[in-house]
This record gives sequence, structure tokens and C-alpha cells, in this order.
Amino acid sequence: MGEAPLQKLEDSLLQEQSVTLWVKREDLLHPHISGNKWRKLKYNLQEAKQQGYDTLLTFGGAYSNHIAATAAAGREYGFNTIGIIRGEEHLPLNPTLSFATSCGMQLHYISREKYRLKNEPDFLEELQRQFGKVYLLPEGGTNLLAVKGCTEIVQDIPLEYDYICCAAGTGGTLAGIVASLEGEKQVLGFPALKGGEFLQQEVEELVIAYGGQSYSNWQLITDYHFGGYAKIKPELIAFMEQFKQQHYIPLEPVYTGKMFYGLFDLIRKGYFKRGSTIVAVHTGGLQGNVGFKERLGVQV
Ligand SMILES: *Cc1c(COP(=O)(O)O)cnc(C)c1O
Repeated sequence: MGEAPLQKLEDSLLQEQSVTLWVKREDLLHPHISGNKWRKLKYNLQEAKQQGYDTLLTFGGAYSNHIAATAAAGREYGFNTIGIIRGEEHLPLNPTLSFATSCGMQLHYISREKYRLKNEPDFLEELQRQFGKVYLLPEGGTNLLAVKGCTEIVQDIPLEYDYICCAAGTGGTLAGIVASLEGEKQVLGFPALKGGEFLQQEVEELVIAYGGQSYSNWQLITDYHFGGYAKIKPELIAFMEQFKQQHYIPLEPVYTGKMFYGLFDLIRKGYFKRGSTIVAVHTGGLQGNVGFKERLGVQV
């Protein structure tokens, strides 16, 4: 397992606003089990092993970072993996799914309608009947063991800071950070989806289920979804490109690009008190960039 070092950013905007910004490079944790997906899988893999499972089954879209990470983890830790993929098969496989199959993952495609049942007990039982004894990981890998893994993101930051920021999909990572801080500091979550307000309740429930307590030192910043999940706008791509050139940190357009774009916009608008120190968590996910490049003809 690699390290997730802290990298301090130098930028004239940060100087003007007297804000210090560190990036927690979770993207460097592992070459294939990227960023927060590694944190989320860690205790699930241990649990699966302890309970004697030899197969992991999970869900995702065709470009899912979680599908890629689960496939890689299966290969590395000796599990068979089954990916239930939303939508129809398209050949040749995109880079995410071709990576997953190269790790040995078995892919099964289901319709979008059926996919909506992914958390329904009846459907999960049906899958268990079809595939035998499998360790089920929910979409995005989010469950309480995933939250536990994500608490370690925070334990791994030997710095004084005032704010911590992360991108949010299912909210599992955000929940782990909030639970770990136990009311200290301010936590900002940037939903990648349009209508990300629904995460308020989801994260609240995860935090309570995990630690038995709720906290009010966190909030969602819902203005930077860029039209929704996997929607890509030229100004976002331009920002990511400039960010990479300036800081040598690659971003992707689904999660981390939006978060950093939003964070810099908030800094520009004077959202953070002068003298504040911010830690921004780079949750990884760079595998998806190969697919974006192909699909959209953009260089990301
Ligand atoms: C999956 C993912 C997220 C979202 O994590 P959640 O725990 O589902 O909120 C954020 N960033 C990246 C890069 C991801 O791959």
C-alpha cells in the first residue's frame, strides 16, 4: 500500500485571500484501487475474508471507479469478482470495463429499470440465488465498513487545519470524514450529482449509524455539479488542464475536477476567513479519464 501525502499548493489567489490549501493525495494510495475506493474496500475485504467468502459482487455504471477498484482488489486479494453493470453491453468494452475484465471480473448487464432495484432485498436474494454465496458490496461501495475505512483519511492528516473538503457521490466518504472528526473543524462536501441535496439525509443517517451521534459542523456545497453526473463543460476541462499544469496534480471531471473548481470559486468569493487552512481530499478516480478522452475527444 502506498502513501497519501499532503501537498501544499502555491497560487496567487491563495496568497491574495490569505488561505493555505493542502491537497491530501489519496489518488496516490494505490495504482489501481484508487483513492477513496481503497478506503471503502479495506474493511469490507477483511470482513469478506473472515466470513469465508471467495467472491465479491457489486454494482456500477460502465465508467464506475468502484467497479474498476473492486476488480483490481479482487485480483490483488484473491477474490472472484462479479460486476452488475447498468445498461447494455457495448463492444468493444470501454477502458474501465476492459480493465475490470482483465482483472478477472465477470460482467453482467442489467436494464436501467432493474438496476434501480439494486438495494431491494428481493433483488439481492435473486442475485444470491443466481450467483451463489457472494459478498455483496453496494453501489459505490458505501456501507458502514466503508465509512469506517474513510475515517482513516482524517486520521492520516498530521496538520492543523480549519476546513476539510471532499467530493461526494453516495456520501460514504463524507460520512467517514464527519464521523471521524466528531464535531471538530468544518467539513464541506461537493456533490457530483445534480440535486445533491438528497445527500444531507443520507450522510446524516450514515454518520449516526456509524457512531451513534450526529454533528452540525458539515455542509453540502451543491452549486458545482456542472449539470449533473458525468456532464462535462468546457470551463471545467479548462480549469482541470490549468490545475494540472500549475500543480502537477491530475484531476478527473466527475468528482475531483468539480470539487477543486468549486473550492477555488469559494476562495475567490471570500468564503473562507483570512488565515484559514483548508485540506482538500483528492479522492482519486483517474482511471475514468481514459474513457472520457475516448468518448468526448477531450484531453483530460
Ligand atoms: C466514488 C468517488 C467519489 C464519491 O465517493 P462517495 O463515497 O460515494 O461519496 C468521489 N471521488 C472519486 C474520485 C470517486 O471515485
